[in-house]
Amino acid sequence: MEYRILGKTGLKISRLGFGGIPIQKIDAEGTRALIGRLIDEGVNFIDTARGYTVSEEYLGFALTGVRDKFVIATKSTSRKKDEMARDIDVSLEKLCTDYIDLYQMHNPGAKDLDVATAPGGALEAMLEAKAAGKIGHIGITLHSLEVFERAVELPWVESIMFPYNIVETQGEELIAKCKEKNIGFICMKPLAGGAIEDATVALRFIVSNPAVTVVIPGMADKAQIAENAAAVADTSPLRADEVEKIDGIKAALGTNFCRRCNYCAPCTVGISIPSVLLFEGYYSRYDLKDWAVARYATLDKKASECIECGICEGRCPYNLPIREMLKNAARVLEK
Ligand code: SF4
Ligand code: SF4
Repeated sequence: MEYRILGKTGLKISRLGFGGIPIQKIDAEGTRALIGRLIDEGVNFIDTARGYTVSEEYLGFALTGVRDKFVIATKSTSRKKDEMARDIDVSLEKLCTDYIDLYQMHNPGAKDLDVATAPGGALEAMLEAKAAGKIGHIGITLHSLEVFERAVELPWVESIMFPYNIVETQGEELIAKCKEKNIGFICMKPLAGGAIEDATVALRFIVSNPAVTVVIPGMADKAQIAENAAAVADTSPLRADEVEKIDGIKAALGTNFCRRCNYCAPCTVGISIPSVLLFEGYYSRYDLKDWAVARYATLDKKASECIECGICEGRCPYNLPIREMLKNAARVLEK
């Protein structure tokens, strides 16, 4: 495993990190088994969030006795000082630790960032927690390019997390700027929210960019950890066949695809928008038509039940035309 310094934090971390979202799909004992495998593979960076329901709690249970082997990052969407102070304390309790290495402001939009950095905002609580030794360093996670541009200029920002993958390269210039400014860059959504199936080529593409400090795919089983660790450990230049695959993925996905971030939820009528769009992708892009139709049939609410209120589109950070995409999904999956 290759190790890098996470920008201004000075923390030495593995180039492959563990994204804590999928822990919500397993249990505490399953999480403990994954932690053992991470140790075997030399992975020492774990990212989770207050918002990932049981993730912090299961990690706290699983890290008992081995906490010191890991650099722990978590995050909160609180924008006010008192709420952020409370969240940091809850994270400490759930993670069963008295110290969190990296605490991140979770995906602020431009207005949220104004609130969080104003007097009485979340940043004050983070700085106080840092001074008190509850957290070691402060970072920020983002989906908006506009906020990314601001964040690289903020003196308190020690690391930035942003989506970056074969089909989402919009942050590339700012990622390079992170390196110039010694801000650690944490790559999220390496598989474009599940839209890219070939994890090995996806990770090889990401680690071929020297400005990426760490990539954090979500991993729910030991086989995925082994596959991803092998991909990241291969530091040779991209081969011609890999470049061909990358070009094929770009051509197949374009830009109008769902990253499964679920920021569009809740749908007014209860449609699981990312699930519908995932199954549509399997149907149209991966030629898994029967499987996609069968899985789609298990959803309680179907795409055709959309009342076109448009509320979801206002929440989608990628400005996807969700209503049109659902109509297309209904056409192919509800025949
Ligand atoms: S436009 Fe359709 S999918 Fe979006 S929130 Fe409204 S009902 Fe749900
Ligand atoms: S439709 Fe947009 S907000 Fe909803 S899951 Fe997909 S990318 Fe995220």
